Formats: sequence, structure tokens, C-alpha cells
Amino acid sequence: MAADIRQCKACGKLFHSLGNPLCGECNDEMDRRFVKVRDFIYAHPEAGIPEVVEKTGVPEKNILAFLREERLVLEKASGLLGCERCAKPITGGRFCDECKNQLLKAFTPAANVVRKGAEPAESEAKKTPPQKQSSRKDDRQGMIYSRYRKG
Ligand SMILES: [Zn+2]
Ligand SMILES: [Zn+2]
Repeated sequence: MAADIRQCKACGKLFHSLGNPLCGECNDEMDRRFVKVRDFIYAHPEAGIPEVVEKTGVPEKNILAFLREERLVLEKASGLLGCERCAKPITGGRFCDECKNQLLKAFTPAANVVRKGAEPAESEAKKTPPQKQSSRKDDRQGMIYSRYRKG
């Protein structure tokens, strides 16, 4: 597939992208930061985000980005990370389960296409238990949890 010329979201440099919003250098840097944070959390599972920021030197916005990418997951839903649609506290990713289901429905053509009887997205959403996110298979670089404590 053809590479797109994009502007790196972090440093603004133009680069050939295969879908990544960051250039190679920034991507490597983010991976290094992620490993730092992950290792720190492994060693200090009780650490809250402010402590992780302080001890690893990784800015909070990077940690939030890891949460959005679901490379990190908060142990408990917190106001720190809100659903991008309804602002409800979530543990990781971009949307709460409810909005995810609604968005899924919105993206299926069933609504404006000739009726086919049952709407697959809806029945699918009803079958899916709301906590599926936490039991999701770990197929990335180790699903890890960060505990965020208030105060
Ligand atoms: Zn860059
Ligand atoms: Zn939501």
C-alpha cells in the first residue's frame, strides 16, 4: 500500500506514514516512554498517576494518550479520563461502553438502508456484556493497570 505524507503530531515533521500519526523518531520515543511507565507501574502497582509522572518524567498527557490507546488501563473509571462523547469516567480507550454501542449502531448502514428485518448491531450490543473490556484478551504489549487515587 502507498504511504501517505503526513505531519507528525508530536514534532510537526513531514514523514511517510502507513497509518501512524507519529514519525519514526517520535514513535520510538513514545515506545521508550511507554516502557518506562509500564516498568514503573509493574514495580509500583500502588502508584497513582501523579507519582508515575514525577518518577518517570513522562508527561501526564503522554500517559493519557496511552490510556486512550488502551496500552494502559486505569484500575477504576476516573474523572481523569472521560468518554469523548458523554464525558462519563472510563478506564481506557475513547468511549464508554454505552457510547461505543451507540456509535456502532450509528456506523451500521442498517438505519438508512432498506429494512432487512432484524438490525444486527442492536442484537449484538444486547448480547455483549458491559464489562467485556476488562476481560479482553491481552494481545498487546502487556495490558497493564495504573491505579489512580484521588488526593
Ligand atoms: Zn515526530
Ligand atoms: Zn459515553
